[in-house]
Amino acid sequence: MKLIFLGPPGAGKGTLAAKAVDICKVPHISTGAIFREAIAAKTPLGLKVKAIIDAGKLVDDDTTIALVKERLAQADAQAGYILDGFPRTIPQAEALATFSTVDKVVNFDIPDSSILERLSGRRVCRACGANHHVVFSKPKQAGVCDACGGELYIRDDDKPEAIQKRLEVYRAQTAPLIDFYRNKGVLVDVDARPSVDEVVANFKKSVVA
Ligand code: AMP
Repeated sequence: MKLIFLGPPGAGKGTLAAKAVDICKVPHISTGAIFREAIAAKTPLGLKVKAIIDAGKLVDDDTTIALVKERLAQADAQAGYILDGFPRTIPQAEALATFSTVDKVVNFDIPDSSILERLSGRRVCRACGANHHVVFSKPKQAGVCDACGGELYIRDDDKPEAIQKRLEVYRAQTAPLIDFYRNKGVLVDVDARPSVDEVVANFKKSVVA
């Protein structure tokens, strides 16, 4: 199954994707996570994108499209994938259509008030990238990843200045993809407000079944 997870920052795309890999048996491909790994490893890609990402802006389409095209060509993505955070612009969606055919696009529906609450409490594992939240998905031990014991940190782009920018960018450049995919008949709306377990149950019912 080839899926796109579409929605504003903080909607829970990464959290659901981490569960959906077991349900759908396909890899979770997060462009944001690939960029963060490159930044941590100080690769040429990481050095190029760090300032852009910290400011809450988008990495350019050519760089991002090339990265995804290469990733989707790998063996583990042939049977399917969950694309989380890509495409984020119409040109990215048009490019994707030239090298892959998507089955469904899951649109995470969530009001702005919930987004701010979620982003400001989000903590990410430096070692494995797993998402936690100080209220909604509290780690057993503060500051320590439940999955691997790694250190939890606050993403630079989850700080208030960058959050506002990311929401603006989402509205201007990514939200138009909702109609783009609705018109193609592949969009499925999922209410992203309930608890993780409820969102997973709705996902199974409306996307997987
Ligand atoms: P995310 O983890 O999906 O919130 O992505 C974190 C950041 O990585 C975004 O705010 C962008 O700066 C960058 N990024 C991730 N995916 C894309 C994309 N498809 N196009 C451009 N920039 C992206």
